[in-house]
Amino acid sequence: DLTLSNVTVGYDGQQVVAQTSFHLAAGEIGCLLGPSGCGKSTLLRAIAGFEPLMSGQIEVAGQVISTAEINVPPERRQIGMVFQDIALFPHLTVGENIAFGLTSWSKSQALERVDELLALVGLAGFQSRYPHSLSGGQQQRVALARAMAPKPKLLLLDEPFSGLDAKLREELVPDIRSILLHEEMSAILVTHDQMEAFAMADQVSVMSDGEIHQTGTCYEIYHRPATRFVASFIGHGD
Ligand code: ATP
Ligand code: MG
Repeated sequence: DLTLSNVTVGYDGQQVVAQTSFHLAAGEIGCLLGPSGCGKSTLLRAIAGFEPLMSGQIEVAGQVISTAEINVPPERRQIGMVFQDIALFPHLTVGENIAFGLTSWSKSQALERVDELLALVGLAGFQSRYPHSLSGGQQQRVALARAMAPKPKLLLLDEPFSGLDAKLREELVPDIRSILLHEEMSAILVTHDQMEAFAMADQVSVMSDGEIHQTGTCYEIYHRPATRFVASFIGHGD
């Protein structure tokens, strides 16, 4: 599980995310939902270990990984991340991209894991292809497979569908949800799309201007919005 307690993050001493708290149970999918510039990526990067905290605490599976003093480096957090702009290594094949984080695995185990993930993301047989020969949606699936390959405890997805057309997003969202459930991985999805959040998440945190207004199930957020902002953002505005 993941617990954020009063997390404040910023740049050059300027707060961008202030006093945010939420809890995500093991195996659940959470979502950070909010308009552009509200601090979603900043918060996600702090969880991944790329931004130091100004104050507060982040805990994963009972271990404190971030405070103002402690900063466990990203590679030791057992957290996988798919960034806002997909960046597959262009000179590596699909198989090599997915196996990239599996340096401590035996060759045969790594190959087996690559096969397993390609089947899971619907790209069986694509091992030897290069990223430039794939469609955007296929590249996105490879990026997801690469992030999941080392079996992280937590997967962070920063607008992983942003470059895709509506039809492809509709296809991918339920797929990704079932892949995560199959792998028994917790995940946090960042999006500014309410439909995507509701289709994917067990729990949604609605953000604006560096603050979390409400964390709850899709039902709670929709039917019992805690603030005027949540109500209007979710479409119950007056
Ligand atoms: P989007 O939906 O557009 O991706 P976001 O919610 O992910 O937006 P962030 O990228 O976290 O928003 O940015 C939050 C605020 O922090 C913005 O005002 C942004 O300009 C600022 N910011 C982000 N990265 C940096 C940085 N490296 N240095 C200084 N300010 C930054
Ligand atoms: Mg962002």
